[in-house]
Amino acid sequence: MASNLTIAILPGDGIGMEITKPCVELIQEALGQVGETPMNENWLEAGAATYTKLGTALPDETIAGCRSADAILLAAMGDPSVRYPDGTEIIPQIELRFILELYAGVRPVRSVPGIKGPLADPRGDQLDFVLIRESTEGLFASVGKGSRDDDQATDTQVITRKGTKQVCDFAFKLARQRKAAGHAGEVTSVDKANVFKSMAFWRDMFDEVAADYPDITKHYGYVDAVAMEMVRRPWIYDVMVTENMYGDILSDLAAGLIGGLGMAPSADIGDDHAVFQPCHGSAPDIAGTGKANPTAMFLSGAMMLDWLAVDKNHEAYGEAARRLRLAVDNAFRDGSLVSTERGGQAGVVEITAAVMGELQALA
Ligand code: ATP
Repeated sequence: MASNLTIAILPGDGIGMEITKPCVELIQEALGQVGETPMNENWLEAGAATYTKLGTALPDETIAGCRSADAILLAAMGDPSVRYPDGTEIIPQIELRFILELYAGVRPVRSVPGIKGPLADPRGDQLDFVLIRESTEGLFASVGKGSRDDDQATDTQVITRKGTKQVCDFAFKLARQRKAAGHAGEVTSVDKANVFKSMAFWRDMFDEVAADYPDITKHYGYVDAVAMEMVRRPWIYDVMVTENMYGDILSDLAAGLIGGLGMAPSADIGDDHAVFQPCHGSAPDIAGTGKANPTAMFLSGAMMLDWLAVDKNHEAYGEAARRLRLAVDNAFRDGSLVSTERGGQAGVVEITAAVMGELQALA
């Protein structure tokens, strides 16, 4: 079927281009297998190298290309050696969340068969929960706005009714979809409602939304206790929803549970646009060495296909996503493919070849 959909592709900095090219090839291969025409590719510039070249990290034409695309695939941006005059790093991927109102940061925490997690309990190798990180406000509302003088510096956390209710609603809807697919049907609010006014307000908003979902069980967790439980028994969670900064920290913890940053995909979703991006950054320390693990990027590509399947009502895209995810699982399943970040030999070339081989075997 000719769907004529367009992806805006932002490879960014560091390992970005290395992991983006094979990801796009896999997406197009998976779509071909299910009888879809290739997606139109709009490759766009953004990031630290773009800032060095053009004096802006996120050119207007890149923003326009993102707005007009059906979905946005972004690898990683930033380079510690390139900074704004105030000393902060280049973070256009975060600016994009504000510009396109991508309020729901979706961080699936799913164990890939064959990749042992760090926990001794075997249930730690079969995780399947989702962390939803509010992505447009919270402590990050202060980005570029905090104050600093010789004696004091402040960053202010902003929690709004609209921002909190829309992200909680997203979490409850997701829990309902997951319940239909056999999951527990539970949402945990991760907050610090016992200490901060802003977080007590967050919890009130969470409760208001929960009242609309009587079929979904609600739970509360204080962020410090949740951090401990995510190590002690992470399998108790189904869907978690939390403030931006807590989500930033907990999503890296969650990545550690499923084999590291190179295995952790993510999406930032709003009402009109969605960006799909691995949880990791541009990894400048290994850029150009071929050592990067592209799996998180591939799984982010599968999330994009899944989202398009629902958003554009194209069922075949869902099948393409299923195949891409299965190809990743099959590539790692017997334990012999070990990425360099886990002490093995496999980098971009080897992991891409293994996943492409498994994908082609599904044709
Ligand atoms: P950001 O703040 O943009 O998320 P960061 O400063 O936290 O970035 P990363 O770029 O994610 O840092 O890198 C953290 C560490 O993880 C580095 O040592 C990097 O090499 C490693 N790393 C990140 N992504 C990958 C990957 N895909 N494969 C292998 N190693 C990776």
